[in-house]
Amino acid sequence: MAKTWEQLRMMQPIAGKMLTNSIVKQRLSHAYLLEGPKGTGKLETALQIAKSVFCSQREGFEPCLACNNCRRIESGNHPNVYIVKPDGLSIKKQQIQDLQEEFSKTGLESNKKVYIIEHAERMTANAANTLLKFLEEPKSETTAVLLTEQIQQILDTILSRCQILTFLPLQKNLLIEQLKERGAPLSLASTAAQLTNNLEEALSFCDEEWFAQARTLVIKLCEALGKETSSLFFVQEKWIKHFAEKEQLQMGLDMLLLIYKDLLYVQLGEREKVVFQDQRALLESLSYSQKRMISALSYILEAKNKLNANVSLPLVLEQLVLRLQEG
Ligand SMILES: [Zn+2]
Repeated sequence: MAKTWEQLRMMQPIAGKMLTNSIVKQRLSHAYLLEGPKGTGKLETALQIAKSVFCSQREGFEPCLACNNCRRIESGNHPNVYIVKPDGLSIKKQQIQDLQEEFSKTGLESNKKVYIIEHAERMTANAANTLLKFLEEPKSETTAVLLTEQIQQILDTILSRCQILTFLPLQKNLLIEQLKERGAPLSLASTAAQLTNNLEEALSFCDEEWFAQARTLVIKLCEALGKETSSLFFVQEKWIKHFAEKEQLQMGLDMLLLIYKDLLYVQLGEREKVVFQDQRALLESLSYSQKRMISALSYILEAKNKLNANVSLPLVLEQLVLRLQEG
């Protein structure tokens, strides 16, 4: 669902404010480079710039998101908004030439034009040089928006012609809010948000049955370790099957790390930092010494390192559980 500038500014306060100020003052730059990690709202922001340029019912800086122009931009069908994406692995010279040709035409509806280049770092040297010439002769009514996750791979000559806006990783609580808006239960959303900064990846975690089960197994192991009873048996019985692949076990151990950190937060009285909020009763019932919890954290980190060294997964897991049990 399309967002308002108000919402985008909550995600990216600095970049959002710069852009909305320029829109209100009718002083958009000829070229922007939006740079930052995946999932931080760069493409949404680029489309929002286009909507702000073309919306027929804009109020202040907010496009209406409902008029014909806004809707065509959202669906990628606006004649004056041109999006270039890598064709295969790279963006080729021909694609930039096609863009220039398109922009040399006089518009039927308007002479304003916006073009967006996704993954701009994937332009071939020829494509980048062709674009550079285009950027050097800006037409007054053209706005370029380049997007990249790898700013260090963009030519200096291109950087020097763009206003650079940095997109920061989403704040955890904001990410959790967005996951909840998209239907994820709070318990899964708060766990997923700790494991990735990327909204789409976090959403896919929340949609996976495997992820929910993994979370439950982590809680159960924590419970079993607290009772100091059959945790080794529990791990052999349940964990080894569920976390059969290395990446899966990495994630299981990351979750275990989170729940042990939660135990520490409960003891330190920093309950607002607890990730497994739905397990507060369990967390409060386990009273390990702080020393024991800190060693537990280092045991888990060591186990994670061992996974990278090609040791047998069940062995790593069994050793870890024995060490956690002994304290
Ligand atoms: Zn509109």
